[in-house]
Amino acid sequence: MAIEYEIRDGALVWIKNPVTGVVSYVVDLSGKSFAFTLSAHEHPGPEAPPLSDEAVRHATSVCPFCPGNENQTTAELFRLAREEVSGWTGDPSQDGAEWVIRVINNLFPRIPSELTGGRNESYIVIEDPRHFIDRPRSVGDLLFTGILGEEHFARLIATDARVMRRAMENQQVRSAIVRKNQGRESGASQPHPHQQIIGSPEPLPAIQAEARAERENPNLWNEMIELFERLGLIIDSTDGVVTYASPIGAFPRSYDVVMPEFRGLLTDLEPARVREFAHALYRILRILGPLPLDYEIHQGEGLPLHAHINARLFPYSNVAGTLNIPNTLLERAAAIRKALARG
Ligand SMILES: [Zn+2]
Ligand SMILES: [Zn+2]
Repeated sequence: MAIEYEIRDGALVWIKNPVTGVVSYVVDLSGKSFAFTLSAHEHPGPEAPPLSDEAVRHATSVCPFCPGNENQTTAELFRLAREEVSGWTGDPSQDGAEWVIRVINNLFPRIPSELTGGRNESYIVIEDPRHFIDRPRSVGDLLFTGILGEEHFARLIATDARVMRRAMENQQVRSAIVRKNQGRESGASQPHPHQQIIGSPEPLPAIQAEARAERENPNLWNEMIELFERLGLIIDSTDGVVTYASPIGAFPRSYDVVMPEFRGLLTDLEPARVREFAHALYRILRILGPLPLDYEIHQGEGLPLHAHINARLFPYSNVAGTLNIPNTLLERAAAIRKALARG
């Protein structure tokens, strides 16, 4: 089945998500006031006094993901030392960490371990030893992914592949995804920057739904990319990686990073291509900055390798299977294109 949508006078009016059936209506939200809009601006500005040393000490002493508290987590699976992560943007004199990336099991497996041969296949990848940004003004001034260097982020995604390889050694694991929540408003349970990796005995439901849609329309992804190209929503298309502002995301501000020609797992991708995929994802995360967001990397079941990024600027607004997309979607895609071109 082809993608269903309607264009009037050259502008998209509505489009149906071919996987979920949710209909996005493109609307003018310029006059609407969002009393509950989420943004980094709720945090005090740079003129506010810095967070006291005592408050910093308290927050980091109770955080199990902070350096010095390694014994508060489940057993470490492996770590990447500083010399293994080029382009780390932290100040080596400022903290006593001997690691930049650290991998542990999630204390609470997302999928009960009895379903994966008695082995916990939920993982946490701690992205950086830093808890806060430099000179935090509030306990909400947490380090965010956009602050990591581009090379550091590429190492992070390569680390995810390494963790997935480990999970896949378990014969009971058939599928794995990466999930990141940034900011409390996105559902993160720990403030310290980290990703989750979940190994599952079955393709996860979101992947199954996408695979089902793909079976109904084997040309689905190419059709979507062609349509988004026509609508001016493509942000970048380099080295076989396409990034677009999605009018059919889970939230009104969603972006996808897709490798349309690569229908395998992150673990099958050669290192140079993992970097290309990571770089495309990183560029969007860098532009979104400290905004609450989530992203998920989807793979397997014949799907092109892809990531969904949801910025949480607007509160969730899926009502009975409908979503309102601001008509500034196009301008935003163009603004991001410009920002990327500036580097
Ligand atoms: Zn921490
Ligand atoms: Zn997906």
